[in-house]
Amino acid sequence: MPKYKLEYIWLDGYSPLANLRSKTQIKEFAAFPTLADLPQWNFDGSSTKQAEGSSADCLLKPVGVYPDSTRKNGVLVMCEVLLPDGSPHPSNTRATIPDDEGAWFGFEQEFFFYKDGAPLGFPPGGYPAPQGLYYTGVGFESIGALARDLVEQHMDICLDAGLNYEGTNAEVAKGQWEFQIFGKGSKKAADEIWVARYLLTRLTERYGIDIEWECKPIRGRFGTPLDWNGSGMHANFSTKHMREVGGKDYFEKLMGAFSKYMDEHIAVYGPDNHMRLTGLHETQSIDKFTYGVADRGSSIRIPHVFVNNGYRGYLEDRRPNSAADPYLVAGRILKTVQSVPTA
Ligand code: ADP
Ligand code: MN
Ligand code: MN
Ligand code: MN
Ligand code: MN
Repeated sequence: MPKYKLEYIWLDGYSPLANLRSKTQIKEFAAFPTLADLPQWNFDGSSTKQAEGSSADCLLKPVGVYPDSTRKNGVLVMCEVLLPDGSPHPSNTRATIPDDEGAWFGFEQEFFFYKDGAPLGFPPGGYPAPQGLYYTGVGFESIGALARDLVEQHMDICLDAGLNYEGTNAEVAKGQWEFQIFGKGSKKAADEIWVARYLLTRLTERYGIDIEWECKPIRGRFGTPLDWNGSGMHANFSTKHMREVGGKDYFEKLMGAFSKYMDEHIAVYGPDNHMRLTGLHETQSIDKFTYGVADRGSSIRIPHVFVNNGYRGYLEDRRPNSAADPYLVAGRILKTVQSVPTA
């Protein structure tokens, strides 16, 4: 029987930004293991801010299994963290998402490659040419030498893992990129964002490069060549009712609920978001809730096709930032949508 390398992956207890952790266990299986084959495991929660020293064991409950093409017989095992009695650990944000098979999410994950304390491609101690030609750019001057190669490798590893990786593009700042992940079911895309984040962070270790997930790593002066975009994680979402029934009346009630719960949304849309949601750089101010057709300066952008289809389809919440926990984002959006009666 082949020996598989099972990489158990989980989120630690650091706040407001959880870190990914993982460790390997070797186990024999007749064939590539399914979720049902994978045992629970444990780890030392006192080393991850998830337990006190005296009773430190936390449990790892597998919730997703993906092939790892970078390793012979490699298996990625995404886990929830449980307390010793089997209930969800307080850090387990996944466990708070309502179940809804008809909910679809598409996240646009932006990030910076960082090397030696600066975005990849920034000259030592200084700044490159101002923003303009980096977004969807081509050529060494715009893109640099290594970033595209890393993005390509990451894309292949994600596709090999069976993730619903949908696309990628170079972003507005130098060294900044985006990839998109789509999933059907309230937890699927969020699970896959975490696995994709894990794979990207692990891939770049050997290049001496880290991924900067923070939403405003370069705090330049506005309106000068030192003015740099922040990073978002736009959340595109739809439910069965939004896609199949919808209507202007329901849409307006939905926006009423998003307005009412503005603070609850902002609370889980990622740390330091006031640095990014300024009303500039295609964002709305953090203290305003607005929506508009094809409006990239609003909190929620309504795609043209949504209106043309009788207010049916998906909406884009542009407020979540690159460092937000997609479990919390998906959970909050669903709770707000579910607060609106569909009849
Ligand atoms: P943009 O950069 O123009 O905002 P992207 O193409 O980067 O848009 O991302 C759009 C996202 O919307 C994709 O991740 C896609 O999977 C997602 N999406 C498309 N249709 C739906 C839907 N019905 N429900 C939820 N998400 C959707
Ligand atoms: Mn040990
Ligand atoms: Mn995009
Ligand atoms: Mn983008
Ligand atoms: Mn977007």
